[in-house]
Amino acid sequence: MGKKLYIPGPVEVSRDVMEAMCAPMIGHRMKEYAVLHQRVTRGLKSLLNTTDPVFLSTSSAFGVMEGSVRNLVQKRCANFGNGAFSTKWHDVTLRCGLEADLYSAEWGQPITPEMVDKALATGRYDAITLVHNETSTGVMSPLEDIAEVVKKYPEVSFIVDTVSSMSAVPLDLASLQTDVCLAGVQKAFGLPPGLAVFAVSRKALDKAKTTPNRGYYFDFEEFEQNDLKDNTPSTPCISLIYALDHQLAKMMNEGLEARYARHRTMAEATREWIQSQGFGLFAAEGYRSMTLTTGLCDDRTDLEKLKKLAAEKGYAIDNGYGKIKNKTFRIPHMADFTMADMNELFTLLEELLPKAR
Ligand SMILES: *Cc1c(COP(=O)(O)O)cnc(C)c1O
Repeated sequence: MGKKLYIPGPVEVSRDVMEAMCAPMIGHRMKEYAVLHQRVTRGLKSLLNTTDPVFLSTSSAFGVMEGSVRNLVQKRCANFGNGAFSTKWHDVTLRCGLEADLYSAEWGQPITPEMVDKALATGRYDAITLVHNETSTGVMSPLEDIAEVVKKYPEVSFIVDTVSSMSAVPLDLASLQTDVCLAGVQKAFGLPPGLAVFAVSRKALDKAKTTPNRGYYFDFEEFEQNDLKDNTPSTPCISLIYALDHQLAKMMNEGLEARYARHRTMAEATREWIQSQGFGLFAAEGYRSMTLTTGLCDDRTDLEKLKKLAAEKGYAIDNGYGKIKNKTFRIPHMADFTMADMNELFTLLEELLPKAR
């Protein structure tokens, strides 16, 4: 028996999304695929308010995270880290053989525009990586304010991971002017894992062409050349692209403003519920995520035990990630979840908490 997923990725996938994946297979060099590809990439451009191309990568998000530094770091990269994913990105950059420095903020704190300005003012960098929504800590960094700072440094490629925020909060790329904005679909998009999407600026596409050793699988030029024919460099995960097509239509049907408001409402209710149970909130005030909330565990609650009790009831819950595992817990409120799903979880946990203390 499967468990209902209350973990922040992969998230619970709706029945209708699973069914959308069962459409008959087509060949990716057939006309039918080009029609699908064009509809999906147009939908993503509209979601992100951009005229930049949006590419579909058959990989998890880290594939595109690695690909982005390989395509865009020619001199030296500044990686900004305030949690597990953003810090890992520094490691990934180094493992690609690139020059890079890590600028860290404490876990639970955001990356600030001041930090970014100070690093870029050294003139040492031609690229930065930023994780908008740190899924390990539940912190959302102030992307709009950081983007304003980065605009002062036109020679710097602005690479942004919006893996757990894209489609849940407004991302206006025309105004943010990111060079790469990427996401995996197993978080806020509410799809099974295996597909990543990424928008790349004209400036970044031109720069990538001059970068040596950028490999093949994530070569931006390959993506661009194929996208001009509504295609991908290699065989894509067509079933997942059917599901994304379905999910984008659902989003437009719900209305983006309504979708963003639903996420905000669930976030506020989750923060309130966590505090009503006597737990603290881990993320700094003013920077709390709209897609997941991280609670601070107290001395009397055994999170491993709580997780086990929830599993017996058919639910998967989270007991923290990385170095804050079992000190914190994360409650996701994204993708297709509604307040009914949140209340289902709160009721379950209110029943189980006394047994885990
Ligand atoms: C989940 C996640 C990743 C990793 O994504 P994969 O698809 O597992 O490669 C990276 N960044 C953030 C912010 C995430 O939430």
